[in-house]
Amino acid sequence: MKDWQQIELTHEEYMRYSRHLIMPEVGMKGQRKLKASSILLIGAGGLGSPLGMYLAAAGVGRLGIVDHDVVDRTNLQRQVMHGEQDLDRPKVESARDRIHDLNRNVEVITYREPVTSDNLMRILDDGYDLVIDGTDNFPTRYLTNDACVLRGIPNVYGSIFRFEGQATVFLPRDFNGFLRGPCYRCLYPTPPPPGMVPSCAEGGVLGILPGVVGLIQATEAVKLLMGIGEPLVGRLMLYDALEMRFRQLKLKRDPNCPVCGDHPTVTELIDYQEFCGYAGTTNGHAQDAGFQIEPKELKATLDDGQAVTLLDCREPVEWEISQLAGAKFIAMDEVAERVNELDTADNLVVYCRYGIRSAQIVSFLRDLGFAKARNLRGGINAWSREVDSRVPEY
Ligand SMILES: [Zn+2]
Repeated sequence: MKDWQQIELTHEEYMRYSRHLIMPEVGMKGQRKLKASSILLIGAGGLGSPLGMYLAAAGVGRLGIVDHDVVDRTNLQRQVMHGEQDLDRPKVESARDRIHDLNRNVEVITYREPVTSDNLMRILDDGYDLVIDGTDNFPTRYLTNDACVLRGIPNVYGSIFRFEGQATVFLPRDFNGFLRGPCYRCLYPTPPPPGMVPSCAEGGVLGILPGVVGLIQATEAVKLLMGIGEPLVGRLMLYDALEMRFRQLKLKRDPNCPVCGDHPTVTELIDYQEFCGYAGTTNGHAQDAGFQIEPKELKATLDDGQAVTLLDCREPVEWEISQLAGAKFIAMDEVAERVNELDTADNLVVYCRYGIRSAQIVSFLRDLGFAKARNLRGGINAWSREVDSRVPEY
């Protein structure tokens, strides 16, 4: 962190931050510390939106934002940093403009790239005091954790799904007067098998939920940087929006943790896709010839009058949103027990929303001898875009 005693506030900033300056816990010292601070936000999405806006408004000096995505209409339900006029723009650019509209004094550094083992250390070399994890996938969470532990940087963690959220602070070394605590690997030593934990894109999320969880993260970040209060270290905050309940779990550092333990075995970044089982081995048949069928090819096959059995393996609520005519519906987790309703001789085409879950089902079916089972590439959404726009994309 820059030396806050070298940081001065302008007259405009005295005015802007006056509600902070009159609180004894913050005061001139706290505000100058915030201005001296650099935070790296990983992800400019649901969590990144409230984080980016409130941290900027609060007067953090420098915000780095990493995100490789562009703004999509499905984002607008919760990613309030982006608006209608930002559709198709890179999220980092939309975020930078919104932040500068809130507070010109904040320096924004954008990284339009996915975080990987190859670039995260280089990004951290730009001098960040604290990292906030606003991502939604396991490889990035483990990557962020390990990089922060190796560099000794606090990592403010949050995750969201449907109506439930989690937040905690991983402090790999004493920081600003606060004692170190456990890391993400102490909490989750091994990643779940791929496909076991659905993402928000697959399972949905209440649009308001990331606001609550992101602002817990933002609160923890400014407390850590100012050195005030009791940080959320060694405690996992669980939030249930449906029941409107907060609970806390105590977390302990694991002395045998492979990265933050007493005798660490992970001393540099690894391949996190492989670590989380995403390296292609999980979908044994995905490389097979004829594993996938293009939406247009399926359309031509159906128009040609060829017999095709369409299998929809989504969830019942998705079946209510959209369907392909004549499709048979068996939800993904029921396929195994209802497989006798299918015929191995059939030309089977399986679809879901994006073609990810259905690819797992096709692999499973091929293992059982359904040699002609194929996956609809891009799922029903690709069908909507490329073949029949009357089927709503969602
Ligand atoms: Zn650990």
